[in-house]
Amino acid sequence: MTDDRSPETIAASNGMAADKAFRAVAPPLYLASSYAFGGFEQAGTYEYGRTRNPTRDQLAETLAALEGGAGAVVVASGMAAVDLVLSRLNPGETILAPHDCYGGTQRLLAMRANKGQFNLALVDQTDENALDAALARRPALVLVESPSNPLMRVVDIAAIAGKAHRVGAALAVDNTFLSPALQKPIGLGADFVIHSTTKYLNGHSDVIGGAVVAARAEDVTELAFWANLTGVTGSPFDAYQTLRGIRTLFPRIEHQQRSAGAIAAFLAGHDGVAAVYYPGLPGHPGHEIARRQQAGFGAMLSFEIAGGPLAVKRFAEAVRVFTLAESLGGVESLVAHPATMTHLGMGEAARAAAGIKDSLLRLSVGLEAEGDLLADLAQALEAARPHETGRQRAFGT
Ligand code: PLP
Repeated sequence: MTDDRSPETIAASNGMAADKAFRAVAPPLYLASSYAFGGFEQAGTYEYGRTRNPTRDQLAETLAALEGGAGAVVVASGMAAVDLVLSRLNPGETILAPHDCYGGTQRLLAMRANKGQFNLALVDQTDENALDAALARRPALVLVESPSNPLMRVVDIAAIAGKAHRVGAALAVDNTFLSPALQKPIGLGADFVIHSTTKYLNGHSDVIGGAVVAARAEDVTELAFWANLTGVTGSPFDAYQTLRGIRTLFPRIEHQQRSAGAIAAFLAGHDGVAAVYYPGLPGHPGHEIARRQQAGFGAMLSFEIAGGPLAVKRFAEAVRVFTLAESLGGVESLVAHPATMTHLGMGEAARAAAGIKDSLLRLSVGLEAEGDLLADLAQALEAARPHETGRQRAFGT
């Protein structure tokens, strides 16, 4: 059956007013771990909560509808979602992944590759030659993160899907940074979409969750089989919270990306900032691709602060409206220092290869008033400026 509802309508009202028991408007939360058989050898739709759960199914159905997939499997975290896709790989097969993906993803790929569970090719996917050379190794799976975390590199998903399919590889896209409100990888040719639902989809920083949406029904069945086998399916309560979050996904992200655009422009014109990474800026190398394949530029950005490690520390300690914390996509604004936080586990060499400098700070722009956010950044950048010492002031430098 084709779904002709607008994505905004699906997000706001999928599954509402469908309760058959009491006609509850908000879908009920089913916490039960076990379900009674109708009679001997007469299992109902639900048997055991690890395998299937009505609330989790509701979230899976909503995510599949939003992403335009055949179905989805909801799991316990974004990392579990990445790992679920990795379960498709056999020893000897190769995965081609971006050299600058989320640090946790890169660590998982490296650990599994070190155990011989697959071969790993990490490349700068924006470098056409490097990408083609890696594809010549005929990988079984290509993983894309666009925009990437934390440098906001953008890759042409449709072009990569074409290239991957020509060498027989499946394409999985981590869509965490934009959500289906701003990017739909399956429509661009992806076979799988990965989400950390912890981020924009839940949007309220009170759930750890993940999901994989698959373009084809047989892949949904296979992923659901593995998720049940390994027991990584998500909790019903988290699914309930995430469904609640999704109902406001569109207005949240629209508001947040408006403020992010203003912040990117402000930082780009500030002399205490050495570089700004935001696909919405016309000078960003991925700007044209982002305009084409995204419905908006998103609310994540990063920047390099001038003034060395002391400036980073002073800035992080001076912010008041932004909070120094990991994660992203919530209603509150966060600042993270990738080198000591989100991407610490990657190690210094991998960070250097990916271009993640110690002076880089990543912002997740929330729903606070734009003026308050700008004022907070302005005062924190002032506080971060190298101060002249009393001696320098007295005697000159
Ligand atoms: N993918 C991306 C792009 C992320 O930023 C993250 C976490 O920050 C993950 C996956 C992992 O998600 P989770 O923390 O829910 O396991």
